[in-house]
Amino acid sequence: MRFFIAMMSHETNTFSPLPTDRAQFEARDLRYGGEILEAYRNTGTCLGGMIDGAQARGVTLVPSLAAAASPAGRVTKAFYQEAKDRLLADLRAAGRLDGVLLDLHGAMVVEGLDDGEGDLLAAVRATVGDVPVAVTLDFHANVTAAMTRAATLIHGYKTYPHIDMDTRGREATERLADVVAGRLHPAIAFRQPPMLPPIAGQLTARGPMRRLYDMADAMERRPHVVSISIFAGFPLADIHDAGLSIYVCTDGDQPLADALADELAATAWEHRREFLHQATGVREAVARARALPGRPVILADIADNTGGGAAGDTTEILRELLRVGARETTVACVWDAQAVAACARAGVGATVTLEVGGKVDPSHGAPVTVTGRVRTLSDGRFVHKGPMMRGLEGRLGPTAVLDVNDLKIILISLRWQTLDPEMLRVVGIDPAAEKIVVVKSSVHYRAAFEPLAHEIIEVDAPGLSSSNLTRFAFANVRRPIFPLDEL
Ligand SMILES: [Zn+2]
Repeated sequence: MRFFIAMMSHETNTFSPLPTDRAQFEARDLRYGGEILEAYRNTGTCLGGMIDGAQARGVTLVPSLAAAASPAGRVTKAFYQEAKDRLLADLRAAGRLDGVLLDLHGAMVVEGLDDGEGDLLAAVRATVGDVPVAVTLDFHANVTAAMTRAATLIHGYKTYPHIDMDTRGREATERLADVVAGRLHPAIAFRQPPMLPPIAGQLTARGPMRRLYDMADAMERRPHVVSISIFAGFPLADIHDAGLSIYVCTDGDQPLADALADELAATAWEHRREFLHQATGVREAVARARALPGRPVILADIADNTGGGAAGDTTEILRELLRVGARETTVACVWDAQAVAACARAGVGATVTLEVGGKVDPSHGAPVTVTGRVRTLSDGRFVHKGPMMRGLEGRLGPTAVLDVNDLKIILISLRWQTLDPEMLRVVGIDPAAEKIVVVKSSVHYRAAFEPLAHEIIEVDAPGLSSSNLTRFAFANVRRPIFPLDEL
């Protein structure tokens, strides 16, 4: 069998003032052809799983494009068009194909085009005709009917933090091979209850998403049920279809798919209030962290998560830590290329006074003036070693650690979510030895930081990934929808 394979991944926060252009894809990942297989083989990613699955099934892969950028504002029309044209040209040039494998996000919003993946999948379908198309989508996908019509089969991640990407990728390859071999005839049911769950309430270790996935896991063990994906959705993409959705695939049994999807949608709705989330105010969180006896206490800056499209440069927690004179403390990581450059010019060991952070979006806090010693400078390259994206290289760009009386601020040049302790270790900081570690992440940090944390405190600071949805001016999401409207 010959399968075409490509990846296009962006989670778009439509409230972000930072457009996502070609340079943002180049900074994260933009590869073509055979290079994709080399970069992703044996990594904890969807592409990694798809490649493994193909090897196991003796499938020949025809690689096209892999494009990913850090979550931010809308993808520019120019880059989207370029990527789409390239992918479609590769498809037409690929010769006889048995199947198409696509690793997409599902919450990509393009300038002038709200349903990015729906448009891309429709174009792929129009190009390949009846050839089956299998798609993996992020747990945060805002799935649309257009996507479900164009794809033969969709597999969504079942975990948040996302630790099952490779498993889902492998499944996509295997089920696609089953469809091609005539052993599987997908019957799909898709439901969108009017729910927009905030990010911090979506974790799958406990709470309403655990309840839903326990039900889905039991359903998947029943005869003829192929796979069930429950997408928590990405609330900060203000588009018509944002929010939770349910996708059930059975082998040829439409009534069964419909019944299971209805049951899951009803349960999600019944437990909708459990998704609401309360974080701790900045002052109280810092005071509690300092008073706790063990170490490290993780202060999760859930509202400034670059992985949810926030800037990654807000300063309210840092400001409070400076005010109280916190020591044995690390703030990871503040996106501020200007501050990094100033540290680099001064050199290791030099004392500098800088305006740190607060440069992207004044409505979420001003820069903070700090005087400290440049502790380390590095190229910011590391390899993920936690359960998420294991084996994949990460790039923080030129990176500096500024030490203010043992309050260490990690300053990075490329936006990257603080989800792996390696981001601290690579600059010479042992997170387990710190009293307090601030991470700019909503939920993903839990996969690798929770095992070493004495305690975790989620902090209610300002930022574009806040789970307090009343702070955002929604204009496009379908209404009424919970919790924006009381239903
Ligand atoms: Zn996600």
